[in-house]
Amino acid sequence: MQKTIKKVISFEGIGIHTGTCSKMLVMPASENTGIVFRSKGYSIPASIDYVCDTVHGVNLKHNNIEIKSCEHILSTLYGMGITNAIIELTEGKEIPAMDGSSKAFVESIEIETQPIAKRVVKPTEPIFLTTKGSAIFLSPADEFKISFVAEYNYPGFTPQYKSLVISPEVYLNEIAPSRTYTFTGWVENLKKQGLIQGGSMENALIMDEKGALNGLRFPDEPVRHKMLDIIGDIALTGVSLKCWIFGIKSGHSLNCELARRLKCSLI
Ligand SMILES: [Zn+2]
Repeated sequence: MQKTIKKVISFEGIGIHTGTCSKMLVMPASENTGIVFRSKGYSIPASIDYVCDTVHGVNLKHNNIEIKSCEHILSTLYGMGITNAIIELTEGKEIPAMDGSSKAFVESIEIETQPIAKRVVKPTEPIFLTTKGSAIFLSPADEFKISFVAEYNYPGFTPQYKSLVISPEVYLNEIAPSRTYTFTGWVENLKKQGLIQGGSMENALIMDEKGALNGLRFPDEPVRHKMLDIIGDIALTGVSLKCWIFGIKSGHSLNCELARRLKCSLI
């Protein structure tokens, strides 16, 4: 069945990259709407066709309107099985970072089932993509399963592996609370690039060579957040998938390339 949310929910907070305040409404939508962003009177469907940037986040652009950092709210809706919703930015141009995870989003959502069947797709062919030092693999499956290997050449970081069959319950408890993260040694360079202008201990897990500076929600929180990100990126296919996705150090760029290939193969 298709699903939407029961009532309008509002969020407010700074964008992690812009560092400025945003206000967002997540609203119910009728059957077959899909997930649609809105800003300044324009709509942008949550589709891989409108991705304009994948550097440390996924930005969508259409009709000269750009919405930054769409991946966590998209991950939330996809992970919770919500097929129809309008996400309207009433102020700012970036999705509020909240605490860097999907926790605030999932905790506010009440789900409403709609009487029309949703489009569930089981891909027919495997897809394997690689780029310098990372890879992503997709295989047809009877469930929606994500596996990931997180590894960084950063002192003190031990490689992490996790594999989960994703249901709304698993998403809520095992994935949603995991925060985006960075290492202290990366912060200056990211800021110089104009990124993470709003990043802080309040909206990201910060690690140095000795471990987490602001506590861990799970011992393997980083790999769980990478799974959260893949779910948000794959949501840009616009369909519910039955497949196994295995990412090895992949980021938004490679994840989105997988979503693009997948969407093309579905037409
Ligand atoms: Zn993320």
